Amino acid sequence: MRAVVLLKQVPDLRLGGVGVRADGTIDRAAAQPITNPADLHALEAALQLADEVCALSMGPPQAETTLRDALAVGAQRAVLVCDHLLAGSDTWATANALAAAVRWIGDVDLVLCGISALDGETGQVGPSVAQRLDWPQATGCESLTVDGPSLIARRVVEGGYERLRLPLPALVSVGETGFEPRYPTLPGRRRAAAAVIERVGAADLGVGAADVGLAASPTKVAKMTPSPFPDRGCRFVDRDGFGFDDLIRELIARGAFDQREAVAEDVVGAPVTTIGAPVHDGDASLWVVAQMVDGTLDRATLELLSKATTLAPQLGGGVGAVVLCADADVDVDASVMAAARHGADVVYLARAPALATYRAEPFARVIADAAVARRPNVVLFAATTTGRDLAPRVASLLGTGLAADCTDLYVDSWSRMGVTYEQLLHMVRPAMAGGVLATCLCPRARPQMATVRPGVFELRAAPRRPRVVPLDVTLSPADLRVEVLERRTSPADVDLRDADVVIAGGAGCDEAGWHLVEALASAIGGRVAASRGAVEAGLAVRAQQVGQTGATVRPRLYVACGISGALQHAVGMQESATIIAINRDPNAAIYRLAHFGIVADVREAVPELVAALGRGRPHAG
Ligand SMILES: Cc1cc2nc3c(=O)[nH]c(=O)nc-3n(C[C@H](O)[C@H](O)[C@H](O)COP(=O)(O)OP(=O)(O)OC[C@H]3O[C@@H](n4cnc5c(N)ncnc54)[C@H](O)[C@@H]3O)c2cc1C
Repeated sequence: MRAVVLLKQVPDLRLGGVGVRADGTIDRAAAQPITNPADLHALEAALQLADEVCALSMGPPQAETTLRDALAVGAQRAVLVCDHLLAGSDTWATANALAAAVRWIGDVDLVLCGISALDGETGQVGPSVAQRLDWPQATGCESLTVDGPSLIARRVVEGGYERLRLPLPALVSVGETGFEPRYPTLPGRRRAAAAVIERVGAADLGVGAADVGLAASPTKVAKMTPSPFPDRGCRFVDRDGFGFDDLIRELIARGAFDQREAVAEDVVGAPVTTIGAPVHDGDASLWVVAQMVDGTLDRATLELLSKATTLAPQLGGGVGAVVLCADADVDVDASVMAAARHGADVVYLARAPALATYRAEPFARVIADAAVARRPNVVLFAATTTGRDLAPRVASLLGTGLAADCTDLYVDSWSRMGVTYEQLLHMVRPAMAGGVLATCLCPRARPQMATVRPGVFELRAAPRRPRVVPLDVTLSPADLRVEVLERRTSPADVDLRDADVVIAGGAGCDEAGWHLVEALASAIGGRVAASRGAVEAGLAVRAQQVGQTGATVRPRLYVACGISGALQHAVGMQESATIIAINRDPNAAIYRLAHFGIVADVREAVPELVAALGRGRPHAG
């Protein structure tokens, strides 16, 4: 088998070191160039599966060091795509160049890449390359086995995994939970130092200024700002006569223990069902692609619909929910009603047996066909493992840009070189390992597309009486070539998104500390979450992680126990209404975010907090 591995050289952002200069450009000076960590797992997968491995990178001449590192661990061939025409390429343009390079290499059975890059964190290039090559894809895989002419891929999804059978050739992105990278040997290093790296330019690949580079890129970065880190003027327990009992009184006064208001259930009238009827005018301009969990609409979809109701009037049009399903497994009426309760003016319904289980290719085909026919201005997806797998494929089919994992959306005008673009969707997303907030735009291409982090927008009732409009489903055998062999999930016990109270533990907890975190959660009636430090220490599971690569939560009360407050953790919890931090380091960054602080050992502070809760809030339990 012949495999190509896509390797990106990125600044090492794992310990910070990247900031924004006064002119809004990125200052990478302090960050060393490294091979993107997830790509190393992809390289290891290639070395284990293939007889011949070609390392492929796109970048400046310095990216040769990444390719030499790949040769040192066993890759047989290395190709660098290097051309000034490529500068400023977004993911769409990068995918054009890389797909052309894979064709140029020729006779490839498998392309592997990391699930996402440390700097951009979009995860879009892999699926976009797959679409350009018209190959099947599997993203975020942790194990792969070759089975005759196909590949069995185990793909990580929320709360579990799915197993897919993909015919080769195929593209697979690999996460950081499988294929532990190997180290180079001394002979390997010597061989790599002497090896010839093949350099190819845009002309060799048959791509030009219409395909690659800044001008060809549909997305533009309007501005970069340092991630805001609010300093909330933390009030410390045991200082200035403020004790544990005062803390409990303050928490009660701030409503930290109140129940969340229920979302109104009533719909204004029943939906107007036009199933089977011809399509009428009055299409929605902003679409939310619905995601299903256990046959009902996922909460992240409803959050997006809630937000869409405030955006759509500014864009001049209504909100559409796009529901893809098979009749057998889904209560279609319940899904329509749920969409209607949260603001859908139109529910676009695609029903076919082939849509029973999510697969990127048929879903992308149906959504893209509908978008071509009905021309929505904006299409949004929740940035779940499904949304991040699907949206790049749809964007590639439509030839438009996509902003990944956004944390805010707003509508505004934008002027550039004397041209003013009105009513543009501004898509705000963390970049550079969360150190920077980038505002992305898609000024010319349509639809404007984004994936949005679950949990960043509030769930609100906005009852509508929607029209239900059927969508055509025309699929070819090529759209159905991936087979879902198995899907296993158990998300319920660690779903943090609708928790009113979250008690989170970090690397500052040992096992005894972790038991205290759990005891505090059961005393208050909260759910237990974790920092990545705690997950890496084996105290918690991945689904409990809060932060940039975990869940985003906005509970009424968040208690951070032994958590330092790294930026990547903060982005997942800083919107919590009340934050208490327990950390023995008085200078810990978490105290800048916290409303209340307890400078103490977790093992001392948590029992005192539980006791104070018992006194001040006797009904807790
Ligand atoms: C691309 C990228 C994505 C990331 N995504 C995430 C993410 O989604 N979520 C996330 O959390 N991190 C993420 N990280 C990692 C993040 O940068 C931090 O490394 C991580 O949050 C640290 O976890 P921590 O605060 O538990 O551990 P540490 O930073 O080690 O902090 C432990 C804290 O506990 C305190 N402490 C120690 N012992 C005690 C004690 N007995 N009592 C009280 N306090 C004590 C210490 O003073 C210290 O402040 C990401 C990093 C990168 C590069």
